[in-house]
Amino acid sequence: MDLLIIFIFGLIIGSFLNVCISRLPKGESVVFPSSRCEACNTRLRFFDLVPVASFLLLKGKCRYCGFKLSWRYPGVEIITGILFVLIYLTRDWNARLISDFFWTSLLLVISFIDMDYYRIPDSLILIGLGAGLIFQIFIPSLSLSESILGFITGGGILFLFALISRGGMGGGDIKLGALAGVFLGWKLVILSLFLAALFASATGLFLIVTKRKSRKDPIPFGPFLSLGAFISLFWGNHLVLWYLSYFVK
Ligand SMILES: [Zn+2]
Repeated sequence: MDLLIIFIFGLIIGSFLNVCISRLPKGESVVFPSSRCEACNTRLRFFDLVPVASFLLLKGKCRYCGFKLSWRYPGVEIITGILFVLIYLTRDWNARLISDFFWTSLLLVISFIDMDYYRIPDSLILIGLGAGLIFQIFIPSLSLSESILGFITGGGILFLFALISRGGMGGGDIKLGALAGVFLGWKLVILSLFLAALFASATGLFLIVTKRKSRKDPIPFGPFLSLGAFISLFWGNHLVLWYLSYFVK
């Protein structure tokens, strides 16, 4: 029963994340005005905005003008719901849960905006840093020095990589790396960068081999970094122990 409640909570948060993903890059407020159809501009009523259900009932079309809506809207809601359930299953029922819901939501918004626009808004990085500071006081999962060291490690490694690759890495990626260091600490942020590089090269190779992209097409790094950070946040310590167990018998 509680899993269902967490899932529905995730769907509702996911619906808000959709608003953030579509409005933040345009510099619009995520609170006002209320949601409108992007085609006919009709103000949507609450029954048009029920996560997933409205989309299914209306067969993915606007009730007023028939405009076909993207599958991404219910997609983001369902992904958020599933991730929240996963988080709930791996964490005890405590305040830490709130910070983990927050980081996951932020990483989702950053990933989708990066996929759409090839950039990561500074406002999101600043919100993350501010939240990191608040969590540091109320829900400390890391010591302050660990967070600061993580910030320097995550940002520093990507900054060096940007220098070496001459433009292969954007400023947004460097800032995201630094932010990930704040909530992961220096050890796990290194793991997350390693995982991100692994996923990004595998995906890049796949896209080039299947001729969907050429070697010159940019691939946003933010989603991979987010995925690496998410995995490190939840299973990082297990992964590190599992890896070390090969060497320390
Ligand atoms: Zn419409």
